Amino acid sequence: MDTTIRQSVTQSYIDLENEFGAQNYKPLDVVLARGQGVWVWDVEGNKYLDMLASYSALNQGHCHPRILNALIEQAKKLTLVSRAFRTDQLGAFYKEICEMTHSHSVLPMNSGAEAVETALKAARKWGYQIKEVPDNMAEIIVCDNNFHGRTIAIVGFSTEPQYRNGFGPFAPGFVSIPFGDAKALEWAITPNTVAFLVEPIQGEGGIIIPPAGYLKKVREICDEHNILLILDEIQTGLGRTGKFFAEEHDGIEADLTVVGKALSGGVYPVSAVLSNKEVLSVFQPGDHGSTFGGNPLACAVAREALKVIKDENLVENSMLMGEYLMNGINLIPSPYVKEVRGKGLLIGVELKESVGGARRFCEALQTNGLLCKETHQHIIRFAPPLIITKEQIDWALEQIEKVLTGPLP
Ligand SMILES: *Cc1c(COP(=O)(O)O)cnc(C)c1O
Repeated sequence: MDTTIRQSVTQSYIDLENEFGAQNYKPLDVVLARGQGVWVWDVEGNKYLDMLASYSALNQGHCHPRILNALIEQAKKLTLVSRAFRTDQLGAFYKEICEMTHSHSVLPMNSGAEAVETALKAARKWGYQIKEVPDNMAEIIVCDNNFHGRTIAIVGFSTEPQYRNGFGPFAPGFVSIPFGDAKALEWAITPNTVAFLVEPIQGEGGIIIPPAGYLKKVREICDEHNILLILDEIQTGLGRTGKFFAEEHDGIEADLTVVGKALSGGVYPVSAVLSNKEVLSVFQPGDHGSTFGGNPLACAVAREALKVIKDENLVENSMLMGEYLMNGINLIPSPYVKEVRGKGLLIGVELKESVGGARRFCEALQTNGLLCKETHQHIIRFAPPLIITKEQIDWALEQIEKVLTGPLP
């Protein structure tokens, strides 16, 4: 196919999306049709290294053969039952995920936002039943610049105007404080505070890393005031930052940990709330649920996705390759870069404001075979699948160097 025909094929897919779809995204003009490992191919046959990995849902890489096989084999047997019945997958999933994460119990859901909502409900009920906060008075503290999903309750405590504007009225009972500031947490606590919800690293917020020891201090404050610490590890968990959970960098354990994304290796929506104290036991039959949450297909997929993380040493690879990639980027003598920061394979490259935004750099990287997405206006996020090799990173670094040292795109 010549170039014009190929481009018109791409354009026809874009036109279809634009004509019939809601315009709640602004994707790059690349139409993907296939993925394998760290690579994806578009409908024109161009090959790209996926440096976004679906915001960490693809830690195990695209179409991982073992996870696909688990999906297919389970799909032939049993996909869904009403939660009025039990299955041969659910208990095994519970046991394996709890053992792997040192948790006491687990509640499975589908999307990340649903799992965050579940944690908030658990925390409120715990507040009334165990902490004995007066009815309907429970307060939950969150952080400025947070990202926890897109439901109405969750965007209600976002500080990003675009996530909120036009969607009110919102649920009360949330207070927002600066991220990375343990003193601010202490000041915001009242007798009715039941929980503090925070991301160990703010991913969507721009790969914002709190000061060293922040979570340790937060853990102490929560203990002192009998407040639950809820960590949203949907993006930072399951190896992304070079530890299985990002909380391990501070040597602490959350009371409730929210996971999603890579829990299924990107083949199926699976999320969960993990509990270290007996918080989840406040739920009585009928209190909470989900038609698809904990279905046998999801369980089979998640069990295999977790085993892959372990068997392929993805946590260690994330740490080693993360250091290698970050060092490599730091060595690029770029006139455009303000700061490079990250942990494991969650890396943000913040550009100087004078260069006019990260979007055009992402488009230039695409031309060079790397798929990236800007986060906020000036930050490029590099978060490839955790299976990435040194050779693949070397190739990626060559492309990044071309773009970051070339003429302004
Ligand atoms: C992606 C994400 C969510 C929301 O997950 P969905 O599956 O999109 O609902 C929540 N919190 C964090 C930190 C995330 O990265």
